[in-house]
Amino acid sequence: MNIAMNTPLQELDWSQQMSQLGTLIEHEPMARHTTLAVGGAARWFFRPNDRAALIEAMTLSPADVPTLPLGRGSNMLIPDTGYDGVVIDLSELNTIEFNGCSVKAGAGARMSRLARQCAENGLTGCEFMATVPGDIGGGVAMNAGCFAQQVSDTLTYIEVVLANGDIQEINAADLNISYRHTALPKASLVISASFELRTDHPEEIRERMRAMRSRRSATQPLTQPNCGSVFKNPEGDHAARLIEAAGLKGFSIGGARISQQHANFIVNEGDASSADIMALIERAQRVVKQQSGIELEPEVRMISDTNSAWPGEEA
Ligand SMILES: Cc1cc2nc3c(=O)[nH]c(=O)nc-3n(C[C@H](O)[C@H](O)[C@H](O)COP(=O)(O)OP(=O)(O)OC[C@H]3O[C@@H](n4cnc5c(N)ncnc54)[C@H](O)[C@@H]3O)c2cc1C
Repeated sequence: MNIAMNTPLQELDWSQQMSQLGTLIEHEPMARHTTLAVGGAARWFFRPNDRAALIEAMTLSPADVPTLPLGRGSNMLIPDTGYDGVVIDLSELNTIEFNGCSVKAGAGARMSRLARQCAENGLTGCEFMATVPGDIGGGVAMNAGCFAQQVSDTLTYIEVVLANGDIQEINAADLNISYRHTALPKASLVISASFELRTDHPEEIRERMRAMRSRRSATQPLTQPNCGSVFKNPEGDHAARLIEAAGLKGFSIGGARISQQHANFIVNEGDASSADIMALIERAQRVVKQQSGIELEPEVRMISDTNSAWPGEEA
């Protein structure tokens, strides 16, 4: 940790205590932590050592310092100006425990690892996770899904830590889950998620995962930095079809381009800024609205540089 000599005493106190509980870095570029590879610095970047450290840290950070949970950063657009608060990276909370057809995974476990282990254990229901590059916490927060499967199909309950450090167990039925939406308690972080799966032959499960992977790599620009689908599909239609019909496939601003391969993907061609990507998002929304009357809603979480973009909401 690198604390400037003129840091106020109060801040020194809590940040010093936080640094005992994990890795605390000041001014960490978020471009290193998002799959779009853009985004300015987080004022603080905190990776707790474990669950107990996270819980303790929640009670330490001052109420006026906003916090932002981070998974794999595969659905996040952080502004070029960065994030003026504490980004909390949950990657150390990554245990996966099996008990018959039930599995409990820490928020920081990769979804692909969970899918692989489920296949090894002959459990079906989360094959799609093999193809989504996020963590369990991000998957729950987004209700991630594809290939006719989604997190909510098998989710039974989650554990969250609240801003005061209290742990709350919430049944999936009480999360108001819908398409790419989960209502988490305000300012909470998912720390674990439990799923109920069904048995099947491991080789058949693996075969379905292989088919999903190859379909994805044939249709999506996976070799360039991106965040998956930029917009939610409007009821009864596809965002990619609408963007293509609006003539925007391949359109670029600065270093960001609407993919030639899949019009609902924006790719960073190497030197894109967040502002370039935001400008492309706004352009697509404007032109699609003019041409079809449909308002495209971003699926990517567009984080603001302060607390106002907190992704959770009251369950
Ligand atoms: C190539 C590619 C393909 C993709 N394909 C799909 C797809 O098929 N289907 C799909 O649904 N998505 C897809 N995505 C998007 C993304 O992978 C998913 O939304 C994923 O669930 C995000 O997980 P993450 O850990 O990266 O979350 P992040 O991007 O880190 O965070 C996403 C949001 O969740 C919040 N969050 C993260 N962790 C927690 C936590 N522990 N507690 C509370 N809130 C939290 C963050 O604050 C943020 O608001 C794709 C992305 C890429 C790059």
